[in-house]
Amino acid sequence: MISINNVTRFYGSKRALRDISFTVEKGETLGILGPNGSGKTTLINILLGLLRADEGSVTIYGKEIWSNREALLPKIGAIIEIPRLYPFLSGRENLKIFAEYLAVEESPKKIEEVLGLVGLEDVGKLPFKNYSLGMKQRLGIALSLLNDPDILVFDEPTNGLDPEGILTVRETIKKLSGMGKTIILCSHLIYEVEQVCQSVVILQNGDLKKSISSKELENRDHLFHLEVSESGYESCVRFCESNVSIEIIHTDSKLHTFRLKIDSNVSGSEILKNIVESKISVEAFYKDQVPLEELFMEAVKS
Ligand code: ADP
Repeated sequence: MISINNVTRFYGSKRALRDISFTVEKGETLGILGPNGSGKTTLINILLGLLRADEGSVTIYGKEIWSNREALLPKIGAIIEIPRLYPFLSGRENLKIFAEYLAVEESPKKIEEVLGLVGLEDVGKLPFKNYSLGMKQRLGIALSLLNDPDILVFDEPTNGLDPEGILTVRETIKKLSGMGKTIILCSHLIYEVEQVCQSVVILQNGDLKKSISSKELENRDHLFHLEVSESGYESCVRFCESNVSIEIIHTDSKLHTFRLKIDSNVSGSEILKNIVESKISVEAFYKDQVPLEELFMEAVKS
């Protein structure tokens, strides 16, 4: 649906992006993760047709964005910063002004719908100036939903918010993801991307360091942590090495622990049963997802 093809962008002689390529499928929530200065905003601006790539292109629905901005932009909702709206007007009145400007059909109904989606239906009457930052951000999301875009782009949506604001904005994004919207979320927060996204690209110094598909992210689930008694450690190593469904990712002979990858067609409980039947005394066995942080650190070190 969205295809980023070998995008390179310079600011003067400084290269902000180098040969970036990845795709976003319809209904996918993709995270662009990278430290400050890694090129996230530049990439988003190119994707929104606000900046032009020096080399390469971005296509949305098969059309190149820069030359088709007018046709494509109504399909994209961008939440780039906390909106500055009319302070003395209520959230609902602010939405009404934008709905008129955008010529939204059946606007009263649509306004109630988007207020409900972001959980502001009860405070729609409150002046915008009395909103917390999290509420302002959610109103910004409501605003971008007025013309029913298929694609939503969030750039650091929880920056500057208090913990409650962060939670409610994240929940709102998850809800939109559950509704089948195609979402691109830029963030420097690993936890945020891990919570919300199904696939991830990692940028560093303008390079794409790693692309993690939704399948790869899901497969992290088939890792297990195993701890056995000291006397059982050696036989457990032998057991794991001789079992074709098990790959040993890591062991610690001092703590008698293992991180195991188990074939996805074999259940963890089956493996546990076999271990116990081999007379190895098990202290602990549980699912052990590789944290995104670990994948991120691996990617930026390479
Ligand atoms: P991020 O969003 O990940 O923080 P940016 O896309 O803002 O990264 O920046 C990528 C690189 O490009 C940084 O080194 C930044 O200093 C540089 N840069 C961004 N915008 C400009 C600009 N308008 N002029 C010159 N350099 C810029």
